[in-house]
Formats: sequence, C-alpha cells, structure tokens
Amino acid sequence: MKYVVVSGGVISGIGKGVLASSTGMLLKTLGLRVTSIKIDPYLNIDAGTMSPLEHGECFVLDDGGEVDLDLGNYERYLGISLTKDHNITTGKIYSAVIQKERKGDYLGKTVQVVPHITNAIQDWIERVARIPVDPSGMEPDVCIIELGGTVGDIESAPFVEALRQFQFRVGHENFALIHVSLVPVIHGEQKTKPTQAAIKDLRSLGLSPDMIGCRCSSKLEKPTIDKIAMFCHVGAEQVLAIHDVNSTYHVPLILKEQKMINYLTKRLELHKMNIPSLMV
Ligand code: ADP
Repeated sequence: MKYVVVSGGVISGIGKGVLASSTGMLLKTLGLRVTSIKIDPYLNIDAGTMSPLEHGECFVLDDGGEVDLDLGNYERYLGISLTKDHNITTGKIYSAVIQKERKGDYLGKTVQVVPHITNAIQDWIERVARIPVDPSGMEPDVCIIELGGTVGDIESAPFVEALRQFQFRVGHENFALIHVSLVPVIHGEQKTKPTQAAIKDLRSLGLSPDMIGCRCSSKLEKPTIDKIAMFCHVGAEQVLAIHDVNSTYHVPLILKEQKMINYLTKRLELHKMNIPSLMV
C-alpha cells in the first residue's frame, strides 16, 4: 500500500481537498486503485452535529456517515464509495482509546497521547486504507490521506506526530507528503515568505515535503518557483504551481502538465507495482 499525505500550512481552506482528489484522480489514470481518508482534527465524532452556517453542509455517505464535504469530492473524482471510517476525527480516535481503557485493554499502563493516541491513529489508517471502495471489490493500491486544518495548530499535533511515525512504520518508498501553501501576490509581486515559514514549521515537526503545492491567484513565475525550491530545500520539479481556476476540475490538468505523476512514480517506486501502464 502506498500512502500520499496532503497537509497544509499558512491558512485553512487553501485547497488541500481539491489537490488531494486531483492527485488521486491522476494516480487512478495510471490504472491504480485509489482510496482516500480525510482527517478532521476536531473533537466532534462527525460533522452531523455541526452547524452548516459555520462549517457548510455535511456530506452523507452510503452507510449514513455524516462527514466533511471533501469526502464528496473524493467520491466524485475517484468514482468510489467511502465509509464513515474513512473520515477520522479526534473525537472518534479518543472515543476508541477511552473505550479500550475502560475495558482494561491497556493492562494498567498510563494511557497517553504518545504512544496510545498516535498508535490508534496509525492502526486506524492502516485498517481503513485496505477497505475495498470501488466496484471491483479489490483492495486499493494507493491511499490519499488529507490532513485537515493547518500544520502547527494544537488540534492537529497528535495527527502530525502519528504521520511522522507512520512514515517509518510503512517505509520511505510507501509514504509521500505534499504540503500545500499560499503564495500571496502583493503589489504585483509573488511572495514566497509564508511558504518558507510553513515548510520550516513542517520540518520542525519531523516531516519533510516531497512536493510543495503553491496556491496562488496567478500563474507561478519561474523565479518564484526557483526561489521556493532553493529556500525550502527541494528540487524545482517538486514545486507544484496551482493557480486559481474557474473550475476545480481543471486542477488535475494543471498537475499533469507539471509532470507530478512522473515524480510520484519515481518517489513511490510505482513502476515496481504490477500495473501494466507503468511497466517498461
Ligand atoms: P481545504 O481542503 O484546504 O479546506 P478545499 O480543497 O476544500 O480546501 O478548497 C477550498 C475552496 O477553494 C473550495 O471552495 C475550492 O473549490 C476552492 N479551490 C481549491 N483549489 C482551487 C483552485 N485551484 N482554483 C480555484 N478555487 C479553488
């Protein structure tokens, strides 16, 4: 199983969901079976009790799960049917850990965020990633994980730590991270400092970006891409320019033009999988 994690910095609502769905869609065009997990670091068990005025309408899954709208994007972009377990919330993880604690499953140990909550998150991801979600009924090859919120928030800290550990649990060639950041345009100039700061925050938590998704109102200029590459310690091919488009269904095309899939194929060693389109 290959995991592609999409996280975000600088501001919320930066387009992580659209980038995650689009990445999944491009991987699907290679012939891979793609599933997805959305992490929402709030204490609610699900979105069913949250005001639509604050959070937007919730999306209702086939199994009745009331979840974030992003899961609707995943279902439409990837042609899959997800379950309520594909939406992980802080509430669900704590509830599961506390239930185990009440049953005595921790055998007298002090139950802590690290390792008990972080292990529960990793176990949950590994279990749910294997659930068949398309009509073939077969286990997926790739799981796209979107980490909601912004890296650096108190709320998302246990998930960031769990993902830091997870990259070692599953192995380097099975785990890639795309961090989405904002490139604001001030007086006509594309500013890279918020992205530099966001990547520094990410690295300080033990996660290194394999790709940096840069949301910008205009097309990213070559000097901007080069500057982000240099200051964020990545190659220019690892910087993805994602400008505002009229329809978010154009985002997969923007990513395809930038050869995102070539990079992910190398990084995740997808050519070693038994997929006809990837065999040379
Ligand atoms: P997040 O997952 O980071 O909260 P979303 O993926 O839900 O963000 O996107 C937030 C909003 O921005 C949505 O309304 C989405 O349609 C819009 N959006 C995302 N990417 C783009 C883009 N490249 N161009 C225009 N609008 C976009």
